[in-house]
Amino acid sequence: MTRRKLIAGNWKMNCYKEAGVSLALEIARRYKALSTPSFDVFMAPPFTLLDAVVQATKGTGVWIGAQDCAVEEKGAHTGDVSPEMIKDLGCGGVIVGHSERRADHGETDTLVKEKAKAALRAGLGVIICVGETLQEREAGQALAVVGQQLKGSVPEEAEAGKVVIAYEPVWAIGTGKTPTSADVQEMHAFMRQTLTDMLGSETAQKMQLLYGGSVKPNNAAELLSLPDVDGALIGGASLKADDFWAIAETQLQK
Ligand code: PEP
Repeated sequence: MTRRKLIAGNWKMNCYKEAGVSLALEIARRYKALSTPSFDVFMAPPFTLLDAVVQATKGTGVWIGAQDCAVEEKGAHTGDVSPEMIKDLGCGGVIVGHSERRADHGETDTLVKEKAKAALRAGLGVIICVGETLQEREAGQALAVVGQQLKGSVPEEAEAGKVVIAYEPVWAIGTGKTPTSADVQEMHAFMRQTLTDMLGSETAQKMQLLYGGSVKPNNAAELLSLPDVDGALIGGASLKADDFWAIAETQLQK
């Protein structure tokens, strides 16, 4: 089964307007220059830049989304942003369940699943993040933890093309450390099997599974060549056009 690769950038709480728009423009310019790109590009700027980045990248084929969303559509939820509002800006997707949201805001699997359902309700694509801590990996619990997170966070109605899963070991995020390729492939194959049990084989075979955690230009080609890795979710390296593009370029003519 050939699955199209997805190169996704999570800007986190970075970039003011001028720098953010020029970063997005530069990526979009390079992507648009490809005659028939064989991979997709997604960028998730902070909420403050979504509108400007959507406008700046219109018509380039680059997919823009948010880093989080509320469950509710509207109403008395001060400070929250609904998936419908994100969609209304012209965004195509949203990331939910990033480990920084799980850690900083106490987001549980149940809430992550509610957010994912809300995103689907609004017509957004959704990237659902899962991943174990270092302590859990060292205790030999990585597969069990991620299996539980998938069961708890992925909606029953999840379909390939609308839902993407990102495996991001917490200890690899922003640390420069990555699991071995064998460990990444083992986890991704396990996730595909778990998704097969949950959603059926056709959906699981088609669903894109990203790896995230210290993906850089020097390790991207190897990580992205693993059979069950269908792309990357990139934090730090997504903030520099040359680095992000060097990762994307590993997918040219593939
Ligand atoms: C992330 O936060 O999603 C991430 C993968 O970060 P980094 O690439 O910086 O490790």
